[in-house]
Amino acid sequence: MKTIHIDVAVIGAGSAGLPAYRAAKAAGASALLIEGGAHGTTCARVGCMPSKLLIAAAEAAHAAHRGAPFGVHVDGAIRIDGREVMQRVKSERDRFVGFVVESVDAIPAEDRLTGYAQFVDDNLLQVGDHTRVHARSVVIATGSSPYVPALYRALGDRAIVNDDVFSWDDLPRKVAVIGAGVIGLELGQALSRLGVDVTLLARNSVGPLTDPAIRDYAQKTFSEALHFVPHAEVEAATREGDVVHLRYRTSDGNATEDTFDYVLVTAGRRPNVDKLGLENTTLELDAQGVPVYDPRTLQAGNHAVFVAGDANNVLPLLHEAADEGRAAGNNAAHFPLVSRLVRRAPISVVFSDPGIAMVGARHADLAPDSFVAGVVSFEDQGRSRVMLRNRGLMHVYVDKATRRFVGAEWIGPDAEHIAHLLAWALQMNLTVDGMLEMPFYHPVVEEGLRTALRNAVAQLKPAE
Ligand SMILES: Cc1cc2nc3c(=O)[nH]c(=O)nc-3n(C[C@H](O)[C@H](O)[C@H](O)COP(=O)(O)OP(=O)(O)OC[C@H]3O[C@@H](n4cnc5c(N)ncnc54)[C@H](O)[C@@H]3O)c2cc1C
Repeated sequence: MKTIHIDVAVIGAGSAGLPAYRAAKAAGASALLIEGGAHGTTCARVGCMPSKLLIAAAEAAHAAHRGAPFGVHVDGAIRIDGREVMQRVKSERDRFVGFVVESVDAIPAEDRLTGYAQFVDDNLLQVGDHTRVHARSVVIATGSSPYVPALYRALGDRAIVNDDVFSWDDLPRKVAVIGAGVIGLELGQALSRLGVDVTLLARNSVGPLTDPAIRDYAQKTFSEALHFVPHAEVEAATREGDVVHLRYRTSDGNATEDTFDYVLVTAGRRPNVDKLGLENTTLELDAQGVPVYDPRTLQAGNHAVFVAGDANNVLPLLHEAADEGRAAGNNAAHFPLVSRLVRRAPISVVFSDPGIAMVGARHADLAPDSFVAGVVSFEDQGRSRVMLRNRGLMHVYVDKATRRFVGAEWIGPDAEHIAHLLAWALQMNLTVDGMLEMPFYHPVVEEGLRTALRNAVAQLKPAE
């Protein structure tokens, strides 16, 4: 058994772990990056990038189908070659993964260790069956994994998760997608547009939305765009050969039975903490087994342990994982001196069509009488209508007392771009009046945002 003594051990070489390692080194500490699985990060390998590649193919298919109202006709059948679709998804994905692997290869070999790490005690890690690591501080950056409810586990390899989609060589014929969170919506709609017969079974949520009006609108929109079943309760999932039978009940009480090639389970993700041996430490754990930690410093109690990225189960997003990784690595290096992480304005995007976005405070978190909601429908919004993408509803929340913009939830065209304008406005503490002083070109989708802001002003008491 090899023994290593190190200042900072980082468990997991993903989007949080890599910056954690680099920050610890930059702070002058010795650091070790421990990875049990394949290098390349979840984001590049089976997350952000391959999902957007699949969506890009779906957008191309959708564009080919929707020319007629503009007078643009595709004569003859539009053929989607599933093998070519998946070939591009995988080869471009591999290119992105390759860049990450190159950057890992550039890390000195003595700073890298291969194997799954487990805590033996607060400062001692067992890595695989070959190395013991005595660390002054530890960063847990182990990411998350798809949660597969017991009902689907009996389906064997016919119950799949996002990772499996990106290893397909061809597109399947018929898929049930379980859950309409971010991943279910993105993959479900993309597969549907690529000609896969998709049934998207949603329980309660539509993406991360909490504003009831926006949620209802989104639900209606997706129900029209694909076979989206809201409030579906799956009662039975069985397998016969390679065919999956599902029985699900809808909100009207009716039971439906159908068969599928695959069940794609997108029922949420769980932090990878169960195999870390945390029970061998003195760390306090929450109900999900995640060390109780301070989100401002990422420190677990008063311990020399920091939790970053999806492992801490708070903001499972790439840029948050990177920020948290940097902060955790820095704090781990300087322990017991820890400093607070400066959080950026909250922003989240669902790359559906129309897109869904949320910025700042969620509707569910705002005190009911503290704000006004400026409204715009994108149905009559000029540029959106020009492009025949005039579907969407936006609520911008403005604090009644300060006139500050505090948050927004919406579904609509170009949501990913408008989300950035709003996140920047929020981080700059702009009031609704200050935002309306900014330029709005004509004709752009952003004019819809201006309508929502004006609507909020109309609901506020006149500015003093
Ligand atoms: C389908 C999908 C689409 C997504 N799309 C987006 C998007 O569009 N935008 C966005 O911002 N985010 C998106 N995300 C989320 C984003 O990918 C994650 O937030 C981000 O990858 C988290 O990084 P991480 O470092 O916490 O985890 P990871 O990158 O998963 O890294 C964790 C690493 O730890 C390793 N590990 C685990 N346990 C151990 C152990 N005991 N010992 C050693 N190593 C271990 C794992 O092998 C892994 O390499 C998406 C995710 C998915 C699944």
